[in-house]
Amino acid sequence: MSRRHQRVRLSHGAASAVGRVRATNQDDYGTGDDLFVLADGMGGHRGGEVASAEAVAGVLGSFDERTRVGLARAVDRANQAVFGRAAGDVDLFGMGTTLCALALVRSDGRDVLAVANVGDSRVYRYGDGRLTQVSDDHSLVADLVRSGDLTEEEALRHPQRNILTRALGIESALSVDTWEMPAHTGDRYLLCSDGLFNELDDDRIAGLLTDNDNPKLAAATMVRAAVDAGGHDNVTVFVVDVDAAPSAQGPWQCSDVRVEQLSEGGARTARRWLGPLEQPLLSLLARLARRRQ
Ligand code: MN
Repeated sequence: MSRRHQRVRLSHGAASAVGRVRATNQDDYGTGDDLFVLADGMGGHRGGEVASAEAVAGVLGSFDERTRVGLARAVDRANQAVFGRAAGDVDLFGMGTTLCALALVRSDGRDVLAVANVGDSRVYRYGDGRLTQVSDDHSLVADLVRSGDLTEEEALRHPQRNILTRALGIESALSVDTWEMPAHTGDRYLLCSDGLFNELDDDRIAGLLTDNDNPKLAAATMVRAAVDAGGHDNVTVFVVDVDAAPSAQGPWQCSDVRVEQLSEGGARTARRWLGPLEQPLLSLLARLARRRQ
């Protein structure tokens, strides 16, 4: 029997558009070696663009330990970078960004996929004929759905659905949600900003994912569909295909979420210069920053 080790092989496509309403595209995305990172920035002036670009570059530049925790560590370092930059420039103060990432990592001697998420950009898996959301949203409406105070349908139309409960750049201590899952040949992963799923429902997203075998074409088609459906926000999409993997052992399943907090809190460095106005000004800035107009 052949015991030849078959490596996991991934291919991908990505696309992004400013949409029909926003003046600038504050989403950003980037790829490394079997690493895919997407961020949706927020904050007035040029803050949102800077935050998402800094966060993506931060993860790409510091993912040097190919494990699930290594991915969380890279997100933590990216948070330090965004937070530090916001603290050092009054024009950027209060900026923040979501971030989600997918990477091939090692776990117990095997190649598996790891996902990391902070905020309300999403990672989905399409496989076995079904679309499954892997990541959990860190947003006010997602909390209300989880507590039973809102239905999924109400959340979709809620006027405050843009308010985040977690983001990079806001505090020096960051909790990063992480998951691990096996790579199965034929599976397709989708990373996207909220500009996609606020315009297209799950059935439409699943349909677009299955209509186009080529991941580049699939990504471009999905972004165009979201813009055609209204384009109220920037929209960014990664489509990542598992082209080859060792033979699957049993059905696909995702691990339970594991939350990594790798740095201590120490927001005081950013706050020291504010003096007596500190608390009211900070809460105002935080409110403005989190309300992505
Ligand atoms: Mn957005």
